[in-house]
Amino acid sequence: MRAMVLESPRAALRLVERERPQPAAGQILLQVEACGVCRTDLHLIDGELPDPALPVIPGHEIVGRVVALGEGVQGFAIGQRIGVPWLGWTCGQCMYCRTGQENLCDAARFTGYTLDGGYAEYTVADCRYCFALPEAVPAIELAPLLCAGLIGYRALAMAGEARCVGIYGFGAAAHILCQILRHQQRPFYAFTRRGDAEGQQFARSLGAAWAGASDEDSPVPLDAALIFAPAGELVPAALRQVRKGGIVVCAGIHMSTIPAFPYDILWGERVLRSVANLTREDGLRFLRIVAESPLRTHVQSYPLAQANLALEALRQGAIQGAAVLVPG
Ligand SMILES: [Zn+2]
Ligand SMILES: [Zn+2]
Repeated sequence: MRAMVLESPRAALRLVERERPQPAAGQILLQVEACGVCRTDLHLIDGELPDPALPVIPGHEIVGRVVALGEGVQGFAIGQRIGVPWLGWTCGQCMYCRTGQENLCDAARFTGYTLDGGYAEYTVADCRYCFALPEAVPAIELAPLLCAGLIGYRALAMAGEARCVGIYGFGAAAHILCQILRHQQRPFYAFTRRGDAEGQQFARSLGAAWAGASDEDSPVPLDAALIFAPAGELVPAALRQVRKGGIVVCAGIHMSTIPAFPYDILWGERVLRSVANLTREDGLRFLRIVAESPLRTHVQSYPLAQANLALEALRQGAIQGAAVLVPG
């Protein structure tokens, strides 16, 4: 099979011919229909994530069809469409796993980082972490749901009942999340890079009550702000826009250093927190919401062999919505 492989940090991915993997006990072999390109993949390639399992096949927004079942796999059928997310394996025994926080498992393994992912024609995945996916939607439109959608959903869940929600960084996650917000009739405010008129227009087209630059003031005090861009300076910027008791959620896996800020922008019981990974329960809840709301993803698809181009476009902020690789 063909696969795009990261052999060393800060190198381009290399197209290689590899033997098709065999499903071990409990694993599913799937033929990849589409795999989303996530900002986390850029952090991986840039060497910003510790201890990747090099050489590794990136990609953790995998939509594929079941080709073969390893010993003991139940509940999945050959030919069925399934999704493989970032959380690929957990120990089931540590304090986190035992208390409903498997996203924080000390020994967790992650798809496309410490396990081979979906930038390939085939991949294997532990069946316990796979999700059944609908047939009616094209695979390329489903792929971004598996991380951008899911992590965005978890970040929003951390904001509780917040009504007026600010979104910093209007990329793949935000463009899915804002459709949920609109469905729930919660106003949202989009903050993008200064001068990104296209991004702001995109946010308005998806129902943003306001869109502007990330150093501008929100037209209303925010109940919560969700930060999807990896820029540390957005943390004090967002804290300045949330009301007393409001919450700022950092949703990315990596962020540049947060600059020092005066205590008074945190004072007033404002909360600053991060979101890490996902639980399987998050996935099931999110996919139920997807089934109920008219959610559309905007995607730009690339052939598998052009993964480096897709990643560069994402880096340059040139992707509206999400980039998706298609092996076929
Ligand atoms: Zn664990
Ligand atoms: Zn991701």
